[in-house]
Amino acid sequence: MSTTTTLNPYHMALQQFELAADKLNLSEDMREILRQPKRELTVNFPVRLDNGRIKTFTGYRVQHNVNRGPAKGGIRYSPEVTLDEVKALAMWMTWKCAVVGIPFGGAKGGVICNPKIMSPGELERLTRRYTTEISIIISPRSDIPAPDVNTNPQVMAWIMDTYSMHEGYSTPAVVTGKPLSIGGSEGRNDATATGVLFVTRQAAKRIDMPLKGARVSIQGYGNVGATAARLFHNEGCKVVAVSDTRGGIYNEVGLDPSSVLRHKQEQGSVLNFRQSQNIGVQDVLEIPCDILIPAATEGVITAANADRVQARIVAEAANGPTTPEADEILYKKGTIVIPDILANAGGVTVSYFEWVQDIQSFFWGVEEITKKLEMIMNRAFAAVAEKADQYSCDMRLAANMLAISRVAEATQIRGIYP
Ligand code: NAD
Repeated sequence: MSTTTTLNPYHMALQQFELAADKLNLSEDMREILRQPKRELTVNFPVRLDNGRIKTFTGYRVQHNVNRGPAKGGIRYSPEVTLDEVKALAMWMTWKCAVVGIPFGGAKGGVICNPKIMSPGELERLTRRYTTEISIIISPRSDIPAPDVNTNPQVMAWIMDTYSMHEGYSTPAVVTGKPLSIGGSEGRNDATATGVLFVTRQAAKRIDMPLKGARVSIQGYGNVGATAARLFHNEGCKVVAVSDTRGGIYNEVGLDPSSVLRHKQEQGSVLNFRQSQNIGVQDVLEIPCDILIPAATEGVITAANADRVQARIVAEAANGPTTPEADEILYKKGTIVIPDILANAGGVTVSYFEWVQDIQSFFWGVEEITKKLEMIMNRAFAAVAEKADQYSCDMRLAANMLAISRVAEATQIRGIYP
């Protein structure tokens, strides 16, 4: 298989799907339905830039499967967005919602743009026009976006406001990950990383590894990566390395995550943080550590570097960080990979809580949310671990089997329309 094929996220998602479908003896008819997204919308739309010129941007919204409930999934702003990437991320969202048992299907969106060189005004105009373009398929009952790479609560607020202006009344449940003041949920900002911590605790228990003192290395220092650093540090772990697009930093006695975050906010990168050694972007994946948390992007652990991964647990905060070839290498080495659809499902779970709270206009406290999240993450971890033991397979295959069988059952029971 060529490298391009391996690193195309949609091909990766299909490869993982077929592996699980084979193990489940899924019929060819059911595979035919589940392989393809239900809907793919491409939009090209003009935005006026600050210099007065017009630039046309391309965006996507893909809904993979909605048999278990409305489509749900984040929106990504990046120059690297492709339709195949959005299709893969939408499919993974379907499996993710099924594996944690929340009543949503999968979707994803993206706009090809570089938010780092855009002004807040340009980003707002882009967001409002993109929202308008995709509003023919999103709504609180059909498809609910959320944050992903390079989008944040402010972007979610613009989406909510634009959609509400069209409706003529406030519609907070159309998007999650909003600021608290307009119907966001307590605990949403930390939810993905909190979920990563909950399942990592369970994985560590399985191999009798105490989290206190465990060395953690994190790729990506954004929403998820920086929060994971803080939470794992508070848990007593030593965060020995972190990175962003420009490079990484390493300190074997442990970094202070809040100081690193302040440094990144001031300097634009984690690089050159005092009392640490600069390392390469890829080095964070290979340095000596007990827990590796990829929290950046897809296809970073591949056949080329998997055998140099030293961690005993890889907790996939990012979506699709490990290629199928790398999965095989890690499994043979005895590394526990907590797959993305399980490890980072805390985000969509608290997004589900936010949607429920918006619909009922009744809001819960952070303790209640964290307790419910922990229950859901632990229950999903236990179900996946049991399946992995039953089939003597890795946790990704087990999680996919569990998720795909749930989606297939819903699809079967509803029947084929007309
Ligand atoms: P973000 O934009 O806030 O942060 C991404 C970070 O990764 C940044 O620090 C960036 O510099 C770094 N990065 C990007 N490409 C990199 C590379 N090639 N090498 C090293 N660092 C790189 O995004 P986020 O919301 O934290 O999302 C990170 C990952 O987590 C994505 O895969 C996303 O799909 C996944 N995820 C996010 C959520 C959520 O709630 N935000 C939920 C589930 C999964």
